[in-house]
Amino acid sequence: MIVLKSRQEIEKIRKSCQIVAETLKEVGDSVCPGVTTKKLDEIAESGIRKRGAVPAFKGYRGFPNSLCTSVNESVVHGVPSTLRLKEGDIISFDLGALYDGYFGDAAITVGIGQISKEATRLLKNTEKALCMAIEKGKAGNHLYDISESIQVFAEDKGYSVVRDFVGHGIGSNLHEEPQIPNFVPENDSRGPLLKEGMVLALEPMMNLGTHEVKILNDQWTVITADRKLSAHFEHTIAITNKEADILSKFH
Ligand code: MG
Repeated sequence: MIVLKSRQEIEKIRKSCQIVAETLKEVGDSVCPGVTTKKLDEIAESGIRKRGAVPAFKGYRGFPNSLCTSVNESVVHGVPSTLRLKEGDIISFDLGALYDGYFGDAAITVGIGQISKEATRLLKNTEKALCMAIEKGKAGNHLYDISESIQVFAEDKGYSVVRDFVGHGIGSNLHEEPQIPNFVPENDSRGPLLKEGMVLALEPMMNLGTHEVKILNDQWTVITADRKLSAHFEHTIAITNKEADILSKFH
């Protein structure tokens, strides 16, 4: 069942999302060659806590940290470590917060110093896929209109979209129904009708090569099967009768 949220609940989710957005900005500003992903996780955790929230990912199904740090071929769920970032790397930061009973969730991918043209293009297009998906997020459309816009745009640009991980509803739980694939499921359905009050975390993951992924021995870090680059952007949005309300937009 997809839970519809009241205005009050949406404002609580917005507050949580703002904490995530502000903290992600701090993390992004701290990126430089030589910094460890562990240090960035510490910045994320203190950023969340100093704003009175709790890191949503820490301990979630046993995830050890507050921030997912997914470098280069890593798609999502990268575990912070003593790995030092170097010029030319790209890294996705996925962060969640819990504040006053409601969750916020967002992700960005950034480059370290000068990055390759193909990496720049991948980041730009993955963010653009998210923007286009958000435009489809309005009452009267169907869920897979969002999925289709991401898949068509990505594949048209020569990328693949990850199948094994998807976006999700969010609210008083970090992950709620519906699942939001970044591709159209092969079932001849347009998916559930979008209604005012739905709150959705849209998160395209786009790869330079194959869509296939595997999980490293740490049981968390997801990498592309061909070890080519992957990028990931995420916003939490509320569905309205007009344009989507982007709750995790940085102000
Ligand atoms: Mg998410």
